[in-house]
Amino acid sequence: MSQLPTVKLLIGGEFVESQSSEWREVINPATQQVLARVPMATADEVNAAVAAASRAFNSWKKTPIGARARIFLKYQQLIREHMQELAAILTAEQGKTLADAEGDIFRGLEVVEHAANIGTLQMGEFAENVAGGVDTYTLQQPLGVCAGITPFNFPAMIPLWMFPMAIATGNTFVLKPSEQDPMVTMRLVELALEAGIPPGVLNVVHGGPEVVNAICDHPDIKAVSFVGSSRVGSHVYHRASQNGKRVQCMMGAKNHAIVLPDANKDQALNQLTGAAFGAAGQRCMALSVAVLVGEAQQWIPELVARAKSLSVGAGKDNPDLGPLISCTARERVTGLIAKGVAEGARLELDGRHVHVPGYEQGNFVGPTIFSGVKPGMSIYEQEIFGPVLCLLAADSLDEAIAIINANPHGNGTAIFTQSGAAARKFQEEINVGQVGINVPIPVPVPLFSFTGSRGSKLGDLGPYGKQVVLFYTQTKTVTSRWFDDEASSGKVHTTIAL
Ligand code: NAD
Repeated sequence: MSQLPTVKLLIGGEFVESQSSEWREVINPATQQVLARVPMATADEVNAAVAAASRAFNSWKKTPIGARARIFLKYQQLIREHMQELAAILTAEQGKTLADAEGDIFRGLEVVEHAANIGTLQMGEFAENVAGGVDTYTLQQPLGVCAGITPFNFPAMIPLWMFPMAIATGNTFVLKPSEQDPMVTMRLVELALEAGIPPGVLNVVHGGPEVVNAICDHPDIKAVSFVGSSRVGSHVYHRASQNGKRVQCMMGAKNHAIVLPDANKDQALNQLTGAAFGAAGQRCMALSVAVLVGEAQQWIPELVARAKSLSVGAGKDNPDLGPLISCTARERVTGLIAKGVAEGARLELDGRHVHVPGYEQGNFVGPTIFSGVKPGMSIYEQEIFGPVLCLLAADSLDEAIAIINANPHGNGTAIFTQSGAAARKFQEEINVGQVGINVPIPVPVPLFSFTGSRGSKLGDLGPYGKQVVLFYTQTKTVTSRWFDDEASSGKVHTTIAL
């Protein structure tokens, strides 16, 4: 046990061993091999991280734009150079395939590239002569210490959604990665320091509920970004808001696709298969429900055939699906599949008994499809977060839209159709924050922001892009008048010594 590597805290620029007596194991989900031990940081350690971030803020907030931007230019280069090493760490601890791991890192890298443009992103506004000789302008000033709490399913992308933009805008940061797979996050943090992030500007604490609550309560933390489940996100939102912080929480989902009978069948079925089962369904934007309209209901056998053809295995062998994150997650998913059967849904494809030679201990579940799913069933009401696709039937586009709008979640949705009119009606009437038209997983690139909505989000402003610049800054509005002594000669002025 003591031979295992330990995951360090980062406080004030130093990677330090936690003094905690409480540790968890980081486990390879394909083999159950214990890779490392991660501490549940003590209250003193959380306080030390926040104190280091508070001290660093005094100078970091005044660092010129160009100096801040150049760090992220260097950082994106370092991430590119270490892509394969990062992907291997990510796959070992999280389970996803190497190809998916590179995708996870790449989507975060895009945010780092965006952070390198901070000069143009953080500009204020200026209006001349709002009254005679009076100008008004705005400054977008950093808030202070910000914190981020991240989930297990994108251990590279989601930390990179948070700290690059928070730091580029002049804040300092305390990150609390998922305790289930913190190792790739820590390697990314090491590279961030190598890129030039000064001591104390980025700090990392590990832990579970106690550390999260300490972050929500700490008076010196001004803003909290959270990504994770709806249960924990709601708790974080309310607790941190009550303590006067800005909070943004991106939470659970149940993303629906509509398949119209005029869709390009091959494209629609391939994309649906990839979006339902890729990353073993452990994506907050996974398509976990498809509403088949009219004759598209005849396509189920072809969908099942495609799902059956997907390979399941250890992520390092690059199959189509890797394992689920933990034994507990596997039990939860297989338990929900059993419930689906008990509650009357038709099990078209059962992934519970998949066998992966050489990886008998892995947390594998194969692609699973239910048809005849109805609102009210557990498999419809709960986020399964596994490779399980629920099929519903509708007679018309209107009925399909009504089903989606009645669902409390609002992360993402997609329509497959060749009709521009149907697609336009869908984008106008659907009450979901991210919409794909013949695009199954419509996660916006960082020129835009992540805009999940309704039950999938608490807080107004989303991660990355323009919205996060507003989230991580306070707008200060200055109204100024300068007296021209010559132009206003004859008037009496107070002299100010400069
Ligand atoms: P989770 O909510 O269990 O964990 C998220 C974070 O909260 C972790 O850092 C964890 O340590 C902490 N945490 C866990 N239990 C806690 C508690 N009781 N009190 C305080 N903190 C606690 O989520 P997860 O299982 O790691 O991630 C999967 C979930 O995240 C899914 O619901 C998925 O939809 C969601 N997710 C959402 C998005 C999005 O953008 N909407 C993106 C990725 C993941």
